[in-house]
Amino acid sequence: MGKATGAANYREEMAENTSETNPHKRSPELFDQIVNLCKRRGFVFPSAEIYGGIRSTYDYGPLGALMLRNVKNAWWRAMVQERDDVVPIDAAILTNPKVWEASGHLATFTDPLVDCRKCKERWRQDQIGDTCPNCGSKDLTDARPFNLMFKTFVGPVEEEANVAYLRPETAQGMFVNFVNVMQSMRLKPPFGIAQQGRSFRNEITPGNFVFRTREFEQMELEFFVPPAEAGTWHEFWCNERLNWYRRFGIQEELLRLRHHEAEELSHYSAGTADVEFAFPWGWGELEGIANRTDFDLKAHAAHSGERLEYFDQATGERYTPYVIEPAAGATRTMMAFLIAAYDEDEVGGERRSVLRLHPQLAPYQVAVLPLSKKETLAPLAREVLSNLKMHFMCEYDDTQSIGRRYRRQDEIGTPLCVTVDFDSLDDGCVTVRDRDTTEQRRVTIAELVSEISAQLARPFTPRPITTAP
Ligand code: ATP
Repeated sequence: MGKATGAANYREEMAENTSETNPHKRSPELFDQIVNLCKRRGFVFPSAEIYGGIRSTYDYGPLGALMLRNVKNAWWRAMVQERDDVVPIDAAILTNPKVWEASGHLATFTDPLVDCRKCKERWRQDQIGDTCPNCGSKDLTDARPFNLMFKTFVGPVEEEANVAYLRPETAQGMFVNFVNVMQSMRLKPPFGIAQQGRSFRNEITPGNFVFRTREFEQMELEFFVPPAEAGTWHEFWCNERLNWYRRFGIQEELLRLRHHEAEELSHYSAGTADVEFAFPWGWGELEGIANRTDFDLKAHAAHSGERLEYFDQATGERYTPYVIEPAAGATRTMMAFLIAAYDEDEVGGERRSVLRLHPQLAPYQVAVLPLSKKETLAPLAREVLSNLKMHFMCEYDDTQSIGRRYRRQDEIGTPLCVTVDFDSLDDGCVTVRDRDTTEQRRVTIAELVSEISAQLARPFTPRPITTAP
């Protein structure tokens, strides 16, 4: 939860963001290119488009569903699999509304809402100041707090006693399960609980494609530490998380860590730093890394009457841990990876669009392409495909010319294409083509899996920023 309850004023930051002072601002056309590519190639569609869609709501198409899963897996790998001090959970989206009372969301998870009296548009006052961006009028209503939680009813009767909320963050699931997890897994701080899942916020002004939507996916870690170690762990997680974005291909120049000013801090935070990305419209948050102190555990202890503390039976030591929270958005981050990877160059005198995605993020790792549609090649190509499918996400494509098929795979970011040709029938070899260099190598079918594994595991170099389209 990053909503500030005080008089935080983001206007200057927004102005800075959108002005020319952002040195890494990408070309405005880039945004349109990405949105267009997402629709054309099946990454992201407007939701329920046949009914005219619904504002700022999107459906992830075949390639988007694959890539979003890969983004989440990349996070899961780094945050759960590669660590020995983090365990996962998967908590309910609908939970006891007392959770949101204790967490402060019912009282303070609000944005200041203003109406333009002239054109009737609604805005977040902290984003626009005193002028309507639509019609330029200064005749705005006073700001009133608007709670961002979606309300619903549990069971058949729509009455106050049955009110429930769609979770606006996954974090509270970790706090309310703190003791269950710690005891069942025999943990001692420092340790973390990780979770991925849908969150819902009734944003006043969603927009910029999947950057701000009302339904989105989060990847959050609550890392419980002895209070005296909170500062050190906050720094640790800031570095760790920046490195994660670098590791999966975001260029140094497009990343920065921005520390919040005191008046911008959320009510629970003793310090927050945002990992920001240079979006085509300016710097925008990918992830907030907050020192949430003992605010949440103490609030839930007070409201539930349960003790939410660490207790060491041997030493008699007892305390409420502090929490360091790296909270990232999977959908927003997927968009950043797409923007960071998008490139255009020239191959054989022809312009091509290429997504230079990290192999672990690309929707498909391998495309199998029989050189011709002739029946003679299909059985071998299908056999190669079914072997590769045991190891990698693959696509099979036997339509159009081979050149066009390579272009399509380049544009959706497939790192390697395997071409089965007529010689393959005799020499048992296929051609492996690299997306980034377009180099081709003959490889025996017997060694194909290990060759491809080795190629995909090579150190990844992101697209240099100087060649930005
Ligand atoms: P903002 O200031 O942009 O509203 P926030 O500071 O409220 O965001 P957090 O509560 O820290 O965001 O949420 C953690 C992460 O979840 C964000 O960094 C972002 O990646 C993602 N996120 C938050 N709100 C949205 C949204 N409406 N659409 C998509 N992703 C979101």
